[in-house]
Amino acid sequence: MLDLDREIGGLTCRDVLAHLSDYVDGELDSATIARVHEHLRGCDQCTRFGGQFGAVLSELRARLTTPVPLDAARAQRLRDRLAGA
Ligand SMILES: [Zn+2]
Repeated sequence: MLDLDREIGGLTCRDVLAHLSDYVDGELDSATIARVHEHLRGCDQCTRFGGQFGAVLSELRARLTTPVPLDAARAQRLRDRLAGA
């Protein structure tokens, strides 16, 4: 069982996981990155799961940036709404 409230380097695991998305995007400021790194150095939970999350996030991001066509039902609902139905 993960203890997400474990605090290392001024961040809890929960904080680190919340930052991971921005971290992968390179959108964290350097101070936060330093704290995340400090946390990861001392936290076996996040070194284990952070790597996994990083891979998952990269894949999610790749999908998010690829336009996904609307399925027929959703497209129809949108058309109905636009038509004022
Ligand atoms: Zn951690």
